[in-house]
Amino acid sequence: MKSKSMRFRWMSNLKKWVVNNLCCVLRKKNKKRERCEEMETVGNECGDITAFSSIDLSTMPSADPAPSGQAELKTEMAKLKLEDLHIVTPLGVGGFGRVLLVQDKNNSNETYALKILDKSHILAIGQQKQVLNEKNIMAELKADFIVRLHRTFKDDEHLYMLMEPCLGGELFTLLSEEMNLGDTAAKFYTACIVDAFSFMHSRGIIHRDLKPENVLLDTRGYAKLIDFGMANKVMPGEKSRTRCGTVDYMAPEMVLKQGHDTAVDIWSLGALVFEMLSGSSLFADKDDNDMHTCNNILEGIKDFVFPNEISKIAEDFIRKLCRINPVKRLTAQEIPMHGWFNDFQWEDLRGRTMEPPFVPKVTSSVDASNFDCDSFSEEADYPRNDGVTIWDPDF
Ligand code: ATP
Ligand code: MG
Repeated sequence: MKSKSMRFRWMSNLKKWVVNNLCCVLRKKNKKRERCEEMETVGNECGDITAFSSIDLSTMPSADPAPSGQAELKTEMAKLKLEDLHIVTPLGVGGFGRVLLVQDKNNSNETYALKILDKSHILAIGQQKQVLNEKNIMAELKADFIVRLHRTFKDDEHLYMLMEPCLGGELFTLLSEEMNLGDTAAKFYTACIVDAFSFMHSRGIIHRDLKPENVLLDTRGYAKLIDFGMANKVMPGEKSRTRCGTVDYMAPEMVLKQGHDTAVDIWSLGALVFEMLSGSSLFADKDDNDMHTCNNILEGIKDFVFPNEISKIAEDFIRKLCRINPVKRLTAQEIPMHGWFNDFQWEDLRGRTMEPPFVPKVTSSVDASNFDCDSFSEEADYPRNDGVTIWDPDF
């Protein structure tokens, strides 16, 4: 029988765990709500947001295939035109664009995720270079755990990116629903991301915005990295200087604008692994104060006491990803050799013979029920540039 003091300790630990996890779930739910509120505000400002749903892509101006830098994309899907697609439902709204599930009118089994970017918005926020970068980087990245860009289109007002759809939903949703994912599932998703990072980092490409919203599950439950809107390519030894990304997952050298390389992705991965294993955020301030979050990041985790549900070997792994000195962090190539992965069969993952820990419910190629984006957001009314677009010939 447990002694009185042991029982008391056990009860108080349980109480702590429940409070901590409840706070975290609420925080995550609020975060999601904020994103949705943002979408709705944009929509309301522009009047009837549902009006967009009636627009058939075939009524839009005929889109030219992008003229250059697209050789591979062009050959893959050369015949497909924007007017061959019809809108099924919205999948998501991000800071830069809307993503719709679209279907090939000539082959109803083929569906795609179409990211639509408003050129005037891009001009208004000066993101022309970054958008071209996103397209060029995605075109280069053909890897199992990275969402595939099939091709791009453009017309006077929009740029379109036609991608492979991942209908299993965001890792974010899974994290919001579970207290924590447990060791096996966390390892599985981490391994998918590490494989994606290995591929990208060996080409000098930094993602710079790893977070649960930017990891999607495909219909089998394998994880894929999306959203290369912040990505950048650096030469060996070169550093990037722009501060970007999402503060909760930002590495200290990014916060301090000291110049960064691929090691910033490794730090973000450490924060994400902690979140998957504990259900709470490693650095985020409990009141969502970004300044306090930055202080937590700069302090690092040297003196941080890990919760009991994280094993010693997983703790060691996270500590080696979140080292303050970027040079001392594990690299994507070194990660598979860490002890946390001793019992993990990388070849089964890569060969896709591994059973994913969670198999999403997807009933057909048009089933978007794992996404809770139920409103179309209309674009804001930025001054038009009269169709004169000198910055996007390469899109
Ligand atoms: P952010 O605000 O994160 O910078 P963004 O404007 O760059 O966003 P994305 O992150 O690329 O846009 O996409 C926004 C959302 O759309 C995603 O979080 C996801 O829910 C959905 N989405 C994007 N790509 C796909 C895809 N290939 N398949 C299914 N859903 C997708
Ligand atoms: Mg995103």
